[in-house]
Amino acid sequence: MIDIHCHILPGIDDGAQTIEDSVQMAKEAVREGITTIIATPHHKNHQYENEKTSIIEKTAHLNKHLSNEGIPLTILPGQEVRIYGEIIDDYLAGGKILPLAETSYLFIEFPSGHVPRYAERLLFDIQTEGLTPIIVHPERNQEIIENPDMLYKFVKNGALSQVTAGSVCGYFGKKIKKFSHQLIEANLTHFVASDAHNVSTRSFKMAEAMEQLEKSYGTDAVYLFKENAELLVQGKSIYKEVPEKVVRKKFLGLF
Ligand code: FE
Repeated sequence: MIDIHCHILPGIDDGAQTIEDSVQMAKEAVREGITTIIATPHHKNHQYENEKTSIIEKTAHLNKHLSNEGIPLTILPGQEVRIYGEIIDDYLAGGKILPLAETSYLFIEFPSGHVPRYAERLLFDIQTEGLTPIIVHPERNQEIIENPDMLYKFVKNGALSQVTAGSVCGYFGKKIKKFSHQLIEANLTHFVASDAHNVSTRSFKMAEAMEQLEKSYGTDAVYLFKENAELLVQGKSIYKEVPEKVVRKKFLGLF
């Protein structure tokens, strides 16, 4: 299994603080059946800046360390980019913006409270540069929760999205769990990833999420999410179904 979102590189954001933390996370990942992780440190989220060149270096260093420790896990370089106006300029300038595993898939994070007005245009412009934007954890964004049609529009216009394993399992609360499942049912999300920061409060939960998905939607759904992560790493096109609008059934009293 491949995990495409993880804060495993030590000492550069709010994920692993030391190389020992990274090793602990790596062991937990292996225990859950993960073989490859894309390290996606925060970039430009007003607290952390991690540019492409340094992430690639730090990934190589961690891989060496894991292999010395005999831990069968491969780390690939990636980045979790908070949306900002100059993403494309910085990408074209080189050295700063790093698509996932050096493919053409690029993580885009919105602030948790809202979606900037310029997002629609920027998600479009990113695609005209040959990149595919992947919106990370839309299920935890307040504005998308209130107005899922916003995500529908982004996906309809070519963006992808990734829900967090912990959200699917209910670790971020009932509401977010329910909304994650609604996004899955409406074909508005294409990847399930851990967004793990540590092994205590924000661990992987990938094995549990896959179990949950199998129970809810059968083995095909599990296959699709696992396969999409593989295809992404290989830089290939992923599977996507026609997106639908989230139907709110709160007045029926059934859900
Ligand atoms: Fe993250």
